Amino acid sequence: MTENSRNKIRSSRCWVVKIGSALLTNEGCGLNRESIERWIAQIMLLKGRGIDIVLVSSGAVAEGLTRLGMRRRPQAIHELQAAAAVGQMGLIQTYETGFQKYGAHTAQILLTHEDISDRKRYLNARSTLRTLVDLKVVPVINENDTVATEEIRFGDNDSLAGLVANLIEADLLVILTDQPGLYDSDPGRNAKAKLIHAARAGDPALEDFAGQAGALGRGGMLTKLRAASTAAKSGTDTIIAHGLEENVLVRIADGEIIGTILSAAEVPITARKQWLAGHNHVRGSVRLDQGAVRVLREQGKSLLAVGVTAVEGSFKRGEIVGCFDPEGKEFARGLVNYNSYETRRIMGHGSDQIAALLGYVAEPELIHRDNLILL
Ligand code: GLU
Repeated sequence: MTENSRNKIRSSRCWVVKIGSALLTNEGCGLNRESIERWIAQIMLLKGRGIDIVLVSSGAVAEGLTRLGMRRRPQAIHELQAAAAVGQMGLIQTYETGFQKYGAHTAQILLTHEDISDRKRYLNARSTLRTLVDLKVVPVINENDTVATEEIRFGDNDSLAGLVANLIEADLLVILTDQPGLYDSDPGRNAKAKLIHAARAGDPALEDFAGQAGALGRGGMLTKLRAASTAAKSGTDTIIAHGLEENVLVRIADGEIIGTILSAAEVPITARKQWLAGHNHVRGSVRLDQGAVRVLREQGKSLLAVGVTAVEGSFKRGEIVGCFDPEGKEFARGLVNYNSYETRRIMGHGSDQIAALLGYVAEPELIHRDNLILL
């Protein structure tokens, strides 16, 4: 398994790299700017090799605590949220300055878990991320700690990183932490503890190795294992590795056996499509002409408004609509990019006319092929 999975990495094209608080901070306080510069250098090298990278970074709370002169991590969540708001400024400044040295732009994205489970926000976040990646910008994502507290309380952004991997269907999620990977027992207590080099993401047996501390602690191995199973739903492999290991990202890209790889099972259809297939809340429907039916069925392409001949029902952007052929048979379903009112206005028209008809363009497709399933 190791060989195959590591070889696969060499041809990977899209990564999510998550950097944890323990690594980003200087003895728990302030940001470890030297290490950040080293990761930036590696990320730029990989980008030069054609790998798109989305960063998920913690460290806002830690930087905020330093800026506010708080020596100890407070227990009150609202104080941690306040610290995160202060520290996020420094975090982003550090990344921006670091990437600017290479002439690369960064973008700040603050997300919550709900933003990814809500279909409309999901589409919005996905479109923005895709656009940023196409523009060669490095998105730097953190949890929006002012409005959500999941990651402050438990995850240290591990779970968020898994969800982001799903959102952009990354090939690889790299979780950089202060441990070399997952061990078969606690290396602090057992001198014979062995590093697990490769395992299957989502294997329940692994949770025994993660140790109980992780269950309640923030961002222990358990949340990393769970992030790996989330990531696996979009076919994304996960590597947990020590972030201070020399050239860690480049060595991972070269297929070196470093850290623990948690491989995703082969996914016949993407997680989103599985989700769509099981979803019964069809809010409306569109009837298509024969040409559109053919390109959807035979060429696996996206649905464009030009192929729509009729719209039924009232639906919002991000809801599921059924696609019917001219004989009135439903043959596909998908997440629609325009609401029913907009769809009625743009149906029968080419994508290049959407701006003139609506005054704005969400996406050129009515339903993107990634969000469409044939029945
Ligand atoms: N989102 C938080 C941060 O960036 C999580 C880490 C923490 O709670 O310290 O700081």
